[in-house]
Amino acid sequence: EYDVVIVGAGHAGAQAAIALRQAKFAGTIALVGDEPELPYERPPLSKDYLAGDKAFERILIRPADFWTGRDIAMLTGRKVVAVDPDARRVTTADGASIGYGDLIWATGGAPRRLSCLGHDLSGVHSVRTRADVDRMIGELPDTARVAVVGGGYIGLEAAAVLSKLGKQVVVLEAQDRVLARVAGAPLSRFYEAEHRAHGVEVRLGVQVDSIVGETRPTGVRLHDGEIVPCDMVVVGIGIVPAVAPLRAAGAEGENGVDVDEYCRTSLPHIYAIGDCAAHRNAFAEHARIRLESVQNANDQAGVAARAITGAPEPYHAVPWFWSNQYDLRLQTVGLSTGHDGVVVRGDPTARSFSLVYLREGRVIALDCVNATRDYAQGRALVVAGARLDAAAIVGAVALKELL
Ligand code: FAD
Repeated sequence: EYDVVIVGAGHAGAQAAIALRQAKFAGTIALVGDEPELPYERPPLSKDYLAGDKAFERILIRPADFWTGRDIAMLTGRKVVAVDPDARRVTTADGASIGYGDLIWATGGAPRRLSCLGHDLSGVHSVRTRADVDRMIGELPDTARVAVVGGGYIGLEAAAVLSKLGKQVVVLEAQDRVLARVAGAPLSRFYEAEHRAHGVEVRLGVQVDSIVGETRPTGVRLHDGEIVPCDMVVVGIGIVPAVAPLRAAGAEGENGVDVDEYCRTSLPHIYAIGDCAAHRNAFAEHARIRLESVQNANDQAGVAARAITGAPEPYHAVPWFWSNQYDLRLQTVGLSTGHDGVVVRGDPTARSFSLVYLREGRVIALDCVNATRDYAQGRALVVAGARLDAAAIVGAVALKELL
C-alpha cells in the first residue's frame, strides 16, 4: 500500500518520484519496474555505453543511496500485469497486489520486433535495455559484419558506434531516405553521406524478407532475394507502447494511453507519462501524439507530480532532442512533422549547419548539426512561431536578431 505507485522505473518514472519529493510530497512512493536495474539513462545505450566509453554506474539516473535517502521504495524486477481502478490496486506477475492512492503509468514501450522468419535467432538484437546492449557487446568479439535494420536515430547511432569499433556495417532502410519519419530530406541526405564516408553501407528502399541462419544469423534476405551477409542483426524499427494492462482496465487510447494536459488518463487517479502517453502537444501539427524523448519524459513527470501534490500546471514544454553520431552533435527543437518548407542555414559540407522548418511561413522546428548557438537561439523562434522568410533566416548572423 503506497500513496503513489509508479509503474515503470525508466526516465519518466524515476523523474516522477524525484519531482514528487522535490515538491515536498511526504506520502509513501513505490517505483515498480520490470528491469532488474535501478533507473538508468537510455540514450547512452546506442552511444557511449555501446561504445564501451561509459560504465553502467555512470548512466544510472541517481545512485542507489539517493532512492533510500528519499524513502522511495524500489520494487525492481517486478512486472505489473493488471490494474484494478475501482479497488485502486495493481497486480504483479509474481502474484503480489499493491494498493495505490494515485498511480503513474510510465512504462515506455517494447521495441518493435521483426516478425519474419529468423527474427528470433540469437544474434538479432533490439536496442532498448541494458540487457539488450550487454548481449550485443558480448557477441562483438565474434562479429565482423552487422546489418542494421532501420535507419532511424537508434539504428544510425548504433551503426556509427559499430563502425567505429571496426565492424563492417550495412544499414537497411525501407524508405527512400534515412530519418524519414523525423527529419527533412536535407538532413537525411547529410547523414547518409556521413555514414558512407565512414565506411557504412547505406541501402535505401530495401525490404527485409527474412533472417538467414541456423542458430546465428548469416545474412538478411531482401525481398528481391538478395542475401546481405552478416553475423549480427540490430533492429531499430520503433516501439510499441507498453500499455496492455492499462488498456485492459479501460483506459482510453489508440496509440498508447490518452492523457489530458495534466497527464491524467480517462481512469480516476491514474496518470500516464513519457513514451506511452498520447497527449495534445501545442507544438504538434496533429492533435494527439506520443513523444519519445528524455525531455518529454522529464517534463511530463513534473506535470503529474504537480497535479498529485495539488499545484497543477498544464503541460506546455517545447520538444527537444539530440543524437550523437561520429563527431556530429545533432540538436533539435520543435517538431518538424508537417513542415511545408525547410531552409538550410550554414554549410553542410563544413559539417556545421541548421535546418529551419516552416509551416505556413512560421518557424516550427530546427535541426542543428554542430550548431549549438542556432539551437539555443532558435528555440525562441519556435516558441514565438516567428514568421520569417528564407532570405532572413539564411542571412542572419545570429538567429536571435530575428526575434
Ligand atoms: P523507459 O525509459 O522505456 O522506461 C519504461 C520502463 O518501464 C522500462 O524499464 C520498462 O521495462 C518498464 N516497464 C514496461 N512495462 C512494465 C510493466 N508492465 N511493469 C513494470 N515495468 C514495466 N531520447 C532523447 O531525448 N535523446 C536521445 O539521444 C535518445 N536516445 C535514445 C537511444 C536509445 C537506444 C533509446 C532506447 C532511447 C533513446 N531516447 C532518446 C528515448 C528516451 O530514452 C525515451 O524517450 C525515454 O527513456 C522514455 O522514458 P519512459 O520512462 O517513458 O520509458
